[in-house]
Amino acid sequence: MILTYQPFELLLKHTFTIAKFSRTSTPVMLIKVEHEGQTGFGEASMVPYMGESFQTATDFLAKVDARQFQYPFDFEAIISYLDSIAPGNPAIKAGIDIALHDLDGKLQQKPCWQILGSDPAKMPETSFTIGIDTAEVIIQKVKENPDCKIIKVKLGRDSDRELIKTIRSVTNLPLFVDANQGWTDLQQSLDICHWLHEQGVLLIEQPMLKTDIDSNAWLTERSPIPIIGDEAVQRLPDVARAKGVYHGINIKLMKSAGMYGAHQMILKAKELGLKLMIGCMSETSCATLAAAALAPQCDWADLDGPFLTSNNPYKMPEFRDGKWVLGNEAGLGIRH
Ligand code: MG
Repeated sequence: MILTYQPFELLLKHTFTIAKFSRTSTPVMLIKVEHEGQTGFGEASMVPYMGESFQTATDFLAKVDARQFQYPFDFEAIISYLDSIAPGNPAIKAGIDIALHDLDGKLQQKPCWQILGSDPAKMPETSFTIGIDTAEVIIQKVKENPDCKIIKVKLGRDSDRELIKTIRSVTNLPLFVDANQGWTDLQQSLDICHWLHEQGVLLIEQPMLKTDIDSNAWLTERSPIPIIGDEAVQRLPDVARAKGVYHGINIKLMKSAGMYGAHQMILKAKELGLKLMIGCMSETSCATLAAAALAPQCDWADLDGPFLTSNNPYKMPEFRDGKWVLGNEAGLGIRH
């Protein structure tokens, strides 16, 4: 097994602003694993607020011994091995895990979605995310929607209602709302939940601070719209803690340390009766296809990475009727 990697600066089409941060590009580590003439491709997207960087990824990769990855792969043992190298570092672990899943599919000559037990007919529509911006830019961004059937809006500031009104002036599409921990007052949050319900909002992500369990649980008990934990839910042990605090969880490969971890989280959430959303960071087609392979097992998808970036090094995957299309190619189906 040979593992190689290449740093890549993934450029965003627009400066991206959420409740607490703003940025124009994302450092991405592109990963390759080669075995028996086949190559698996992976990607670690390291959004700055998660604490990983080219430096931390390079340091981690220097400690990885690719001889540990014996085919047929035991993904449980692989993630245990990666966790034994260092705690944290979920994105670079995800990059390795994704590359090994792509390689696994190619060696088995099966699509990853099939190996993971997904039904492509159950693919949920993916949302198209609009960051916080001026009314003019927001209207422009809505017009750039690549035929998504749901718009995701970043809220979490005093101007939340104005922003929704601006969106509603140009589209009637259903909305996801992401407050990114930006709301603080309980009663105001509940009031806006009811108002957002009337505005055609389908779900609200992480309304309050991830550490404020009581406030999130209070709102979940009363909200007419599903409340989804995102920042509060990183890896498998967090799923059980989300029960009673949120209606559902937002799984992302860059938090779960990859596809194996994400699949375990999906199974656990279903067992606990939690709703499931699968989301992304700023990602190329590679990590998007990896998440899409699991998306049919989730209720909602927010996999718009390739629409929001301008220098995707891979071909755009097929997108039809607001959904990613899972093909029959072996592995993830990444096209060059
Ligand atoms: Mg979110």
